[in-house]
Amino acid sequence: MSITDIPRHVYWNTAFHFVTRPAPSSVVVVSVDGMPELDTATEARVLEGVRRQMPRQVFVDLRIPYGLDASGDKQLKAIIDSYGTDVAFVARASEANRKDKSAFTFPAREIAGKHPIYVSSWNDNFIHAAVSAPYSVTIGERTYPAFAVALAGLKAVPPGTFYPDFTVDPATIPQVSARTLLQNGYSPGLLTGRTVVITASNGIAPMRYLGHGIKPPVSLDIAGAEGLKRPLNADLSFLPLLLLAVGTVLLTNRMQRRAAKNMAYVALTMILVFLPISVRFLGLVVHPDVAMTFMSIYGAIRLWQRRTRRIQQTSTSGLPNFLALSSHPIEVGRDVIVAVVGRYEEILATLPRDLHGECANQIARRLSVGSGAGQIFHGDGGHFAWAEEARPLDVQLSHLEGLRALFSAPLQIGTHTFDTNIHFGLDRNEGLDALTRVNSALASANEALSNGRPVEVFEAHRLAEAPWELSLHARIDEGLRNGDIWLAFQPQWDYRTGRISGAEALIRWNHPTRGYIAPDAFILQAERAGRIDALTYWVLEEAITAAQAVNALGSRFQMSINLSGQMVDKPDLVENFREIVTRRGIDPGLLTIEITETSGMNNRGDAVRNMSRLRDLGFRLSIDDFGTGEASLAYLADLPSDELKIDRRFVSRLLSSDRDRAIITSTIGLAHALGQAVVAEGIEDEATFHLLAALGCDHAQGYYLSKPQPFDVMFRDYQARLMRHSRAV
Ligand code: C2E
Ligand code: CA
Ligand code: CA
Repeated sequence: MSITDIPRHVYWNTAFHFVTRPAPSSVVVVSVDGMPELDTATEARVLEGVRRQMPRQVFVDLRIPYGLDASGDKQLKAIIDSYGTDVAFVARASEANRKDKSAFTFPAREIAGKHPIYVSSWNDNFIHAAVSAPYSVTIGERTYPAFAVALAGLKAVPPGTFYPDFTVDPATIPQVSARTLLQNGYSPGLLTGRTVVITASNGIAPMRYLGHGIKPPVSLDIAGAEGLKRPLNADLSFLPLLLLAVGTVLLTNRMQRRAAKNMAYVALTMILVFLPISVRFLGLVVHPDVAMTFMSIYGAIRLWQRRTRRIQQTSTSGLPNFLALSSHPIEVGRDVIVAVVGRYEEILATLPRDLHGECANQIARRLSVGSGAGQIFHGDGGHFAWAEEARPLDVQLSHLEGLRALFSAPLQIGTHTFDTNIHFGLDRNEGLDALTRVNSALASANEALSNGRPVEVFEAHRLAEAPWELSLHARIDEGLRNGDIWLAFQPQWDYRTGRISGAEALIRWNHPTRGYIAPDAFILQAERAGRIDALTYWVLEEAITAAQAVNALGSRFQMSINLSGQMVDKPDLVENFREIVTRRGIDPGLLTIEITETSGMNNRGDAVRNMSRLRDLGFRLSIDDFGTGEASLAYLADLPSDELKIDRRFVSRLLSSDRDRAIITSTIGLAHALGQAVVAEGIEDEATFHLLAALGCDHAQGYYLSKPQPFDVMFRDYQARLMRHSRAV
């Protein structure tokens, strides 16, 4: 037995279960089942009863207990002789003991005389389902044709095997009981002109009839005869479909478009499923099993490859990523260098997406030529790394200066030209593991970039804080994938209506080994590792899903998300937000974007432009942590916002500090004068909650009302409140 026997059996068993047709009416089975002891006298009586109906031809498919009852034997012999040539015998044996004559149910020579004898001996599969049969079986000197050959009326007996037609539904084979026949229970003419098989259902070790479970063996012979009437009756086995599957795989590997590939696979699947059963009607046997097994294995390998490639390579450039560099030991005598390209994100933003890979590859080529390193590895956000021969420090530094000069020539990508500059981080800590070294070089490169120096050499004492940075990329992706990173929702209260009016989405990370990581900590890390974009768009998508679910309850629900200050001035920010809300079909007015003024905004002009464009698209804007930044008021003047969030530091001291109360009071006045709504966050007690209402604050948020909660908790709570409210009205 091979593994493909199982799919082969499953396929045919299913196919023949559903694709069936009625048996021919020309063959009638006379069953002696249920009759008491079957001696030769009784058999003679059955044969006599059959003969009276004047059948065309009779096959005796019974064990004949010759020699036990002389008078019965004589009667049987007499009736058989009276039939002339129209009676034949059937001898059965299983495939396993076909070689052994005594295993067959041959009739005694005295009874059979010169009458023809046919054999029925089926080849079976691993669970004893009949599959095929030899056209003839040679035992000793004599060759016996198969019973099915006789039933089909074939004159010549070819060599080899034949295939039955299992579409014949065995339940439809005309069958009459011998006992009723003997009691004259059937009208004359029932068997007239027909082929009659006198049989018992237990003629052979039980066998499966594909698609129909275990059936009397005569069903197989009738299906066999039907198969022999088909034009071809040949076995092409698995090869045609396997070749087709391999061909399809080779073809799709050359195809560019995903849709075309999918079409090809759908077509292949249809062929694998429907072709074998269809051509079986022509008598052709083709098996889909090996092709199906091949496709499953191929599919599994492709999935696995895609998974590992996703981890090992960056998607746009096809270059291996930093994990690939750090997963192998770095040879002794080598420095690890990370280069970071300034304004990389901006360059990408002005390029069409299909040129992003080209951009990275061009930078990598330049670095490879300049450094003499064979392989350049590509990290997130314009980071490139490699290992090269360690030289004395001063030589190495001037070498990197030279590399830097290489980048004074602008990059030419497609029709676009870019000026850029490059900074390096250098790790010389030979002997440490690769991950640590890449990590260190990365941290130094980022440092070089932020303080504008050409090269930063990693100093060993900083080792302790570094490891987090490099692996963060992979870990964030992993966290997003497996649900360790999730969104909590903290409801916001509307003082005017006295109801919950929305929620702020707050990111959470239950790290499997580090435990709970506060967002303040990892947002900062994600910003540094260039991973904040991915995170922000994920938050937006999730928050939209939540907002749509809550708004479906009928009452307007405002969803707030936080936008990192680092992202506010990014060139592709607005376009990406627009694309997401359009694709998701949500009114941007249901989304409030909270921006904190503190987190280092690089380009104020671009930031303000982006914010107004977002507002033009319909998003609400909120200034978060108002009062804590250096330039809150200036900010308020030139940022087009709709809402102002008073920082929780002021709110928490509202009751105890007159100063803070004054600040809040005047902030509320100022905000209202500028047409802004005011949200107070961090409300932890009832007194603060009521005082803020008295001061004219519009919205409230804080532990007093609710802590940030998983979505379904917040959703159920909100739903319950809605129901209470509608009942109260
Ligand atoms: P935030 O925007 O000021 O968020 C409010 C923070 O105050 C949340 O902390 C919230 O849990 C906490 N808070 C709410 N009510 C109370 C209260 O009554 N008392 C006290 N003591 N605290 C309260 P969390 O979730 O730890 O978030 C911290 C910061 O992380 C946020 O400050 C926000 O700046 C940032 N953050 C959270 N999620 C995201 C995100 O998806 N994207 C970005 N860029 N930043 C996020
Ligand atoms: Ca916030
Ligand atoms: Ca805040």
